[in-house]
Amino acid sequence: MVSSLIDVDTRHWKVDKIRRYFLPFEVDIILKIPLSYTLPEDKIIWVGCKRGIFSVKSAYYRALKVVEKVEVGESSFGDYRTPLWKKIWQLKLPAKIRIFAWRACMEGLPTKLNLGRRWMNIEIKCPLCERELESTSHVLLYCTKLWHVWWSWNTCPINLLAENKEFVDVALLIMYTGSPKDLETLFATTWSIWYNRNRVVHESQCETPAQVWGFAQRIQGDYKGAITVCQLRKQSPEVGWAAPPLEVYKINVDGATRMGGLSGVGVVIRDCRGLVLVAESKVMAGSYEAGVTEALAVEEGVLLARERGLHQIIIESDSLKVVQAIRSRSSHGEAGTVVQGVLVLLESFSSWKVQHLKRDYNIVAHELAQMAKGSAKSQTWEDAEPTMLQHLLLADRANC
Ligand SMILES: [Zn+2]
Repeated sequence: MVSSLIDVDTRHWKVDKIRRYFLPFEVDIILKIPLSYTLPEDKIIWVGCKRGIFSVKSAYYRALKVVEKVEVGESSFGDYRTPLWKKIWQLKLPAKIRIFAWRACMEGLPTKLNLGRRWMNIEIKCPLCERELESTSHVLLYCTKLWHVWWSWNTCPINLLAENKEFVDVALLIMYTGSPKDLETLFATTWSIWYNRNRVVHESQCETPAQVWGFAQRIQGDYKGAITVCQLRKQSPEVGWAAPPLEVYKINVDGATRMGGLSGVGVVIRDCRGLVLVAESKVMAGSYEAGVTEALAVEEGVLLARERGLHQIIIESDSLKVVQAIRSRSSHGEAGTVVQGVLVLLESFSSWKVQHLKRDYNIVAHELAQMAKGSAKSQTWEDAEPTMLQHLLLADRANC
């Protein structure tokens, strides 16, 4: 009952009680609600329009007003943090991290101290160091167990751990003294720290500082990679990689050759949702001419599909020559014998098709082939994605 938060004698909010049950930003909002001297009974009213009755139209105009206020850099409460909110939504980070950043700055994370403010009898010590109180700034920045994570940030624009500040003030300071990239590093790293903290609490698993830092770095890199690929594709009017129909699997293949070195092939088989069934980066036994390597890549893809018991397949290669050779059942040239072998293998499928795809769109297979060529090490991923190619796979899935 709201009335239990109001002192009937003074007709004011019971500030102590409100501070105990609500988070600081909620307290601010509640204390700004004016109380009527007559103290009428509790009821829910909609403040979005004069009549006090909710309608979608009035909610829309209300939301628009809030957005406009953020746009022009002011807020209904003259909030000094408003420029930060605006900045957070512009960061090149996944939405879940931007929401996390906003919650952390609003003191809205369920840290033990924040939970302890609402409910009594809760252990409020930090689960990492087990010494200090688990406040937002402690668990994300100042805990001694995090020092090694933060020491990895050589280019941090401020002396991060110099003095105890509120988390939001640290974010503001970085926003004013550093670049958007610095703010992205702060939030991606604190997100990774919070993720690790939750694993400690719920799964009793703890990662090393290097893993926590590395995870944050990867998130930033992957996200930017995916955005770049999406933007490149938007600029191009052509259709990119497309997912196969239901129950059909698409096999993208590519070959890579290096003068004097072993050839490499890349294969990725995906389903109608663009999810990876199997991916392979394989070093070949010899050093082959480009056309032969492309044909061997097709052969490798077909072999993998057969091993997995697939029935309906579409093979995509960026080598027009090989695609035409298979379609015309050619046995000419150096690749002729490989093409003939592929045709025999294809007889065991209930349906198959081979088609050409521009190199720009065959990028996952291309990267896998390059990896084999560069590292001279074969690798296979079964029902899993090669993590370093996740941003490319993600961009392809955007076409599903
Ligand atoms: Zn701690």
